[in-house]
Amino acid sequence: MKFDTAAIHVGQEPDKETGAVIPPVYLTSTFAQHEPGQTRGYDYTRSGNPGFDRLGATLAHLEQAKYATVFGSGMAAVNAVITTLSSGDHIVAEENIYGCTYRIYDKVFKKFGITISYVDLSDPANYAEITKQKPSLVWTESPTNPLLKIIDIEAVAKAAHDAGTELLVDNTFASPYFQNPLALGADISLSSTTKYINGHSDCLGGVVCTNSEDWNEKMIFAQKAAGLNPSPFDCWLISRGLKTLSVRMKQHAKNALSISEYLQDLDCTETVRYPLLPSHPQYELAKKQMRGGSGIVIAVFDLPIDQVIKLISNLKLFSLAESLGGIESLICHPASMTHASIPKAEREAVGITDGLVRFSVGIEDADDLIEDIQNSLKNL
Ligand SMILES: *Cc1c(COP(=O)(O)O)cnc(C)c1O
Repeated sequence: MKFDTAAIHVGQEPDKETGAVIPPVYLTSTFAQHEPGQTRGYDYTRSGNPGFDRLGATLAHLEQAKYATVFGSGMAAVNAVITTLSSGDHIVAEENIYGCTYRIYDKVFKKFGITISYVDLSDPANYAEITKQKPSLVWTESPTNPLLKIIDIEAVAKAAHDAGTELLVDNTFASPYFQNPLALGADISLSSTTKYINGHSDCLGGVVCTNSEDWNEKMIFAQKAAGLNPSPFDCWLISRGLKTLSVRMKQHAKNALSISEYLQDLDCTETVRYPLLPSHPQYELAKKQMRGGSGIVIAVFDLPIDQVIKLISNLKLFSLAESLGGIESLICHPASMTHASIPKAEREAVGITDGLVRFSVGIEDADDLIEDIQNSLKNL
């Protein structure tokens, strides 16, 4: 089954009992048993619900994975993976990862003796650190949040496997429509389904996809033991959103390319980055590894900080908000918003400067979005 068909049909078969074309939401915390321990497959929603299985089946198919476990948020999925580690374990991570992933390691798991070191995984010279540090896990995103660095998943997976370890890729920015980390050799593909997969900014969710039976069992255990489960209703919403992933992603990518070309020609931008702009430092790799550039664009404005803030605050169609991947355009200032939890010196060392702006380009008409930016620039 091709992607567009699978997104609509896999895991979403009509309800067996009633024929309802849209499967019902099982809003129940618990399930009646025939005899003690004799269930119909479900006992308590923290450890399973038909809606989790339906969404998981669709996501596993789209990620080309054998297994998918769904969680209450992207961070719950991150948390699930980290709970499998032990005191004394070490992680090697790409230096530009999502701010809250950085924070959960720094503020929570460091206390339990899990260490992490950050390297620039866009530079193959640094693969040697994986060999040298022999981590329990290598952790990366690609494209990274917010800098849109492209990490060579196939090469890093090989380096990890050669060192006897495994690779996790946070695939939130690309979505399974544009990239399948497992097919490129990664062991775990994790996503915040809050973003493109749901696509409508109305609930939170997360997923861990894998081909490893061992990792799958650990994720099912983490879901129930640590209480990281999603809500059945949110799974229903995400399943609904997922059906239109391909049509949305095509339009996100088309609009994002138009906006990045427009921004690139402005005198007031120092750098504009989009994976499929030929000026992107890893353009060739992006073309090889991704089937499209997704919908995030970043620009570094050569303007004083107060002007940058004014520019983004005065937009009418781009709402100033955290998050990304919804049908409506959003704009964000990472240094003061999503990545504020990273100390300023560390943030700037990896390139998250005060002039950096992240556009989550929606599926509106690109001409209207460009006009919105033009008007805000005129009013500076
Ligand atoms: C948003 C995000 C997360 C966390 O997801 P939530 O659903 O907000 O908990 C993790 N990784 C990346 C790359 C993200 O953008």
